[in-house]
Amino acid sequence: MATSANLGFPRIGADRELKRATEAYWSRRITADELHEAAGRLRAERWRAQVDAGIDHVPSNDFSLYDHVLDAAMLVGAVPERFRISGEDGELASYFAMARGSQGAGRDVEALEMTKWFDTNYHYIVPEIDAATQFRLTATKPFDEFSEALAQGVRTRPVLLGPVSYLLLARTAGASFDPLTLLDPLAEVYAEVIGRLAGLGAEWIQVDEPCLVQDRSPAELAAFERAYRRLADSAGGASIFLQTYFGDLGAAFPLVTGLPVAGVGLDFTRGDNAALLRRHGFPRDKTLSAGVVDGRNVWINDLAASLSLLEEIGERVDPERLIVSPSCSLLHVPLDAERETGLDPELRGWLAFARQKLEEVTTLTGAVNGGRSAVEEELARNRELLRRRSASGRTRNPEVRARTGSLDPTRAARAASFAERKAAQRARLGLPPLPTTVVGSFPQHAEVRAARRRYRAGALAAGEYERFLRAEVDRAVRVQEEAGVDVPAHGEFERTDMVEYFAERFEGYAFTRLGWVQSFGTRYVKPPILYGDVRRPDPITVEWWRYAQSRTRRPMKAILTGPVTLLQWSFVRDDQPRRDTCLQLALAVRDEVLDLERAGAAVIQVDEPALREGLPLRRNDWAAYLAWAVGCFRLATSAVLPETQIQTHMCYSKFGGIMDAVEALDADVLLIENARSNETLLEIFRERGYARDVGPGVYDIHSPRVPSEEEIGTRIAASLRVLPAESVWITPDCGLKTRAYAEVEPALANMVRAARRARTSLRLPTAGAAPAPAR
Ligand code: GLN
Ligand code: ZN
Repeated sequence: MATSANLGFPRIGADRELKRATEAYWSRRITADELHEAAGRLRAERWRAQVDAGIDHVPSNDFSLYDHVLDAAMLVGAVPERFRISGEDGELASYFAMARGSQGAGRDVEALEMTKWFDTNYHYIVPEIDAATQFRLTATKPFDEFSEALAQGVRTRPVLLGPVSYLLLARTAGASFDPLTLLDPLAEVYAEVIGRLAGLGAEWIQVDEPCLVQDRSPAELAAFERAYRRLADSAGGASIFLQTYFGDLGAAFPLVTGLPVAGVGLDFTRGDNAALLRRHGFPRDKTLSAGVVDGRNVWINDLAASLSLLEEIGERVDPERLIVSPSCSLLHVPLDAERETGLDPELRGWLAFARQKLEEVTTLTGAVNGGRSAVEEELARNRELLRRRSASGRTRNPEVRARTGSLDPTRAARAASFAERKAAQRARLGLPPLPTTVVGSFPQHAEVRAARRRYRAGALAAGEYERFLRAEVDRAVRVQEEAGVDVPAHGEFERTDMVEYFAERFEGYAFTRLGWVQSFGTRYVKPPILYGDVRRPDPITVEWWRYAQSRTRRPMKAILTGPVTLLQWSFVRDDQPRRDTCLQLALAVRDEVLDLERAGAAVIQVDEPALREGLPLRRNDWAAYLAWAVGCFRLATSAVLPETQIQTHMCYSKFGGIMDAVEALDADVLLIENARSNETLLEIFRERGYARDVGPGVYDIHSPRVPSEEEIGTRIAASLRVLPAESVWITPDCGLKTRAYAEVEPALANMVRAARRARTSLRLPTAGAAPAPAR
């Protein structure tokens, strides 16, 4: 008999209970015990839901108060000295200090770094390791949770982040330090954990090694072999299940399936593990968990297609040793589509969140065991839903299809060369050298949020809300005028979120009421759902831009979100390639860009902060992704006249391997985060140059600190050492949304003063007067 498994379940609760409890604890409204009680209630609910769905292998230790990588660090005692806090609740205090930093009681430590979990929008806390790191079993979480579930009658499959992935995901002190030198001592601790879980009665232990779906060197693969040989020895009566996800095993397939573990879990929704299985087969004595239900999207599974796949897999695996599962943890999808009663019922029928995905898993397991006839009704209903979805006018708009037709985004290009554009823009804008600008948003202070809330609740009339927002724009423009910012922005007060704002005004998008997904810690996001062909029926930002421009003689910059970011930060349809969806988004943005140009905007910024995170996990796939992603940006921006300036913004400084693509965006100006990165970005410019204008951020907007004129001056000087003066712009690192005016006003004033001083040292003429309006 085949069985069913789940690999991980949403942690946050149906009504974000985890967020409420955790934040209540942070603000001391509840005690540590009360927090643990709330967490215990959530765990019990989750186990119950999975058992009720009919799942045979229910996970434990997939729950976390903040992050599972941080949990792993606590488990193996990798708590850097500066975070050690003693006394009552010291362990919990250390834990949250690593996650969020800690101030007070004579302590002032910044949080550990946080970064994206593979190519998801989940962020994990990056453990720190160095040659002196000593691993030691110092926590009891997996044991406690296993026993807790057992007491509730559920013999769970504990989940551990595998030792090799742990080390590969950690941050090492110095680039030359090889994290795998710590593998042997770490494997000892894991052996102890596994032995103890076996002792408590665990039959299976799921060890996640997602790093196996990335390119791995022979030395790294050898490390896997060494580690799993050691762990196999310690498993006692338990069986180790090596779980991979987010892609296929590639060339490592034979090695991984041959490791001394009892089971291997593979993702059959991304990459091509099916082909690898056909080519290499699978050891007869091992269990295979087939991840056929996509844990990364929100759509119903094509059950008939999954069944065919399972039947094919079944030819190569002993039926007793086949497990049906989602492709990865369900952490990345919302909890329950059935609660989205506000959605159109037809659309709702196409959605599968975590609970629905588990039903799909059990249906498929039933079919594997009892034949298709055993689940005839479910299959028929599924077939009908899929048929309606693909035929629906909601998903296919002939007008959009006619427009995208055979369009090749990689061919989109501006008519004039950068040099010609630069000359035309310089003549039009009349800016001084080292022009100053901002990335876009201005403080979304309490009053802005309150007004929006009241407006949405119907307590503030549309006209009044509009008046309120205009007054905010006035203030933002005034602050920039007073500081002397050469190319100001209107402040983006009308936008809560840079994706949602546009998605709400495009056709093809839907919005959930409760579809929260953990982004990091207690920060959850509710990504819009892109279900159908995208169209921009009416101009979106033109009136705001026009109003803002009417308040100043300086060239007011218009700001849009780019197609790749709109794609990346939404749940997008799975019935066509992402590239095709991005193409439609690009055309929608292009329409907006052209309307802005027609209205008179001389500078249009199209933000693409998500360009880099869309990179495939394997290097070989990068070029294809970058080709269409860059093409879509160009499709969105290339139709403007030479004298219209296109800017773009990205807020990260790791550009290793993609700088050519960034340059190929062909934006006239690139505004880019730089202040937090110790000039690693400038190093890239030094090495390879950059043939467009660029504004490396001169101060960190994540901190309430007001940077001094001298500090900013030092940064400008550093930029000028590697970039030609005539191509440098002066800007903060990112938008100012999370800051207060009390910080923004002096910071911008210092920034402009530092720019002016740098201009004089260039011995170039400084343009004193404000430039002529950009009309
Ligand atoms: N224009 C946006 C802002 O300033 C950019 C945000 C971002 O880079 N994530 O808020
Ligand atoms: Zn940014």
